[in-house]
Amino acid sequence: MTKQAQELIKAYGLRKTSCRLDILHLFLTNEHALAHADIEQTLNDRYDRVTIYRTLYAFKEKGLLHSINDVSGAIKYALCQEACDQHQHYDNHIHFSCTACGQTFCISEVHIPPMQLPAGYKADKLHFSAEGLCKTCSQATAQN
Ligand SMILES: [Zn+2]
Ligand SMILES: [Zn+2]
Ligand SMILES: [Zn+2]
Repeated sequence: MTKQAQELIKAYGLRKTSCRLDILHLFLTNEHALAHADIEQTLNDRYDRVTIYRTLYAFKEKGLLHSINDVSGAIKYALCQEACDQHQHYDNHIHFSCTACGQTFCISEVHIPPMQLPAGYKADKLHFSAEGLCKTCSQATAQN
């Protein structure tokens, strides 16, 4: 797993630091999106919040992570799964927020279709979010 993080850092032309590797490892091992606070909570004995903030910013700039405006108002980050690079992000998929566990997931299987806007409007990014029960939580509910 750490090897995967190292390969990604290299592939995206980033300088390898232990903070970058550790943060990337967190994203690779979690299925859901992570907020700054989640990362800080896990790694706060090793890196301060500014270092974590700068790392997230660098990852976003390079097209490695995209940010999600969660329905709760929190900003979360998730790995880019498409051909994102430092020039543009192509994460036109739905973000699903679970009302039971509070986690946010990228639903990369569902793409947002191009939207016909009135003349004069030019959208750079579309935000689509869905709310409900995630895979894990809906299974837990079904068993009860
Ligand atoms: Zn992206
Ligand atoms: Zn859930
Ligand atoms: Zn996403």
